[in-house]
Amino acid sequence: MLKGYTGKRLHVDLSKGKVSALKLEEGFCRTYLGGKGFAAKILYEETRQGINPLSPENLLVLAVGPLVGTAVPGANRLVACFKSPLTGIWGESYCGGELGTQLKWAGIDVLTIAGRSPKPVYLMVDDGAVELKDASHIWGKDSYEAERILIEEAGREFQFATIGPAGENLVKFACVTHARGRQLGRCGVGAVFGSKNLKALAVRGSRLPEVADVEALAGFRWRMFEAAREKLQSLSTYGTPAIAVLINKAGVLPTRNWDEGFYEKFEEISPEVFKGRFYARRRACYGCPVACRHISEVAEGVYAGVRVEGPEYETLFAWGPLCDIESPSALVKINEVCDRLGLDTITAGNVLAFAMECYERKIVDSKKTGGVKLRFGDVEEALRMLHEIAYRKGFGRLLAEGVRKASKKLGKAAEKLAVHVKGLEPPGYEPRGLKGMALAYAVSCRGACHMRSLAYRPNLTGKHPFNPEKTVDRFSYEGQPAMVVELEDFYAAVDSMIYCHFFCFPVIGLVLWRELAEIYSIVTGVKAEVSALRKAGARINSLVRLYNVREKAPSDLAYPEKWLKKLRGGVSAGQVVSERKLKRMLAEYYRLRGWTGTGRPKKKQAL
Ligand code: SF4
Repeated sequence: MLKGYTGKRLHVDLSKGKVSALKLEEGFCRTYLGGKGFAAKILYEETRQGINPLSPENLLVLAVGPLVGTAVPGANRLVACFKSPLTGIWGESYCGGELGTQLKWAGIDVLTIAGRSPKPVYLMVDDGAVELKDASHIWGKDSYEAERILIEEAGREFQFATIGPAGENLVKFACVTHARGRQLGRCGVGAVFGSKNLKALAVRGSRLPEVADVEALAGFRWRMFEAAREKLQSLSTYGTPAIAVLINKAGVLPTRNWDEGFYEKFEEISPEVFKGRFYARRRACYGCPVACRHISEVAEGVYAGVRVEGPEYETLFAWGPLCDIESPSALVKINEVCDRLGLDTITAGNVLAFAMECYERKIVDSKKTGGVKLRFGDVEEALRMLHEIAYRKGFGRLLAEGVRKASKKLGKAAEKLAVHVKGLEPPGYEPRGLKGMALAYAVSCRGACHMRSLAYRPNLTGKHPFNPEKTVDRFSYEGQPAMVVELEDFYAAVDSMIYCHFFCFPVIGLVLWRELAEIYSIVTGVKAEVSALRKAGARINSLVRLYNVREKAPSDLAYPEKWLKKLRGGVSAGQVVSERKLKRMLAEYYRLRGWTGTGRPKKKQAL
């Protein structure tokens, strides 16, 4: 077996309570790299078209890549792939911290979970030995409390991932929480756990993977530490909210349910405010010198005593400008409540912003909401509704389905206010003022997603991610397809290794194509050229696309109505996404990928 891999897949059938070990062939590892690539091949080949994502048939693939568990700084991710209950298409979600590292040290590259346990269980992986343990005593507990109990029972050497009430109640955007601050956040993976009666994972390992060239790895590591110190300083200082300043200045900070691109109360919730008022300390994922994870603690006022990891930029945007909540301590509180209940903060914020607009436009009234006054900026009512969502009570039962389904149920007027792509609610980058994101949202494999291409960064900075000779005009559609294709291929490779994206930022690096090929070779011993990695990234993207074609994903042109209208506020005011130009970008994108005119890959491009 190549170095960096364990060559082992464990398959758990929860219905039968059986565990089997499978071998990963070297050819499979070379072709699909790891992480996302492995999951794509497994989900495409081992699941049936049209299955219900919340049925025992849905397969949950948890995977790591060749770099995970080694001393490569920032390579600590675990990916979960599955059919999404929120979107009905490909679902993927990544988690930092130490979960992936421990899985690798337990000797496992891939853990697949099928079936449904007859009673609540948690899955304990202890150095390769797997045991299903009774979880009835933690069923019903929030994710923090469940983890606390498991730590007491199993010990701190284990790493845990738990679902909260939202996952148990099959809320379509339920997440999985690890170490009170890292999440498998998007696409409803928590509901997939819940549907399997799987409350938690506990993972511990002790065997470090072998690396082909230990000396070269030490040199690479030293370079990364130096580069991180120089280039990622603001991420260390402010965490991910650091980017919010640039986004608001560019007029692309989604505000009041995507009506405007500039938040006039931004000074109230700026990164400096969080740093100055709530900063308690920093945390790092395994082996990371950046430590961008900021712990906030509220010292005074109505939320005194609340402590949470975050808010990250995405939580800040989704609950601050998008819901017009200007109180920073309230944002800390909302973050904590979402984490405890096990809700994806991006979708939850979008859902509430959508509901607030429906309420203010009198599409729904207090009778319908059970007396909850869903006004923009009303923190207490939003908190009340979050609980109703997590426990599927009252109006929360409808909102627990996400924006797409809720808007369909509420009728035409509500559908006009619904912002989602293929059922996934977007992160905090307004595509009308970032044309690269307009395309990226349309083609991303999991719906409105920023992480599959990070196209917002080159659009914001004006710099091409891979070619210093080129510039990027964020208001222009020209050149965006070629850039998005390359970015997507790059991140498919990154997500298969699996690296933290903050080490692989477009434009600034630290790791771009050349470094990725270098470290892959150092760890695995395979002499990899950039062109081979790019081919592998493209193959993985084609395979996931084939999966989505099979699952009858909506057209890439099914775009939120709001984004086709003029943006208001800030320096990007007046910008739209032109349907005609979006069509042109899509045609160019398909052509560059070698897909058909309707965006269908050929099998030989993927398998
Ligand atoms: S940069 Fe932040 S998210 Fe990435 S590995 Fe380091 S601490 Fe974790």
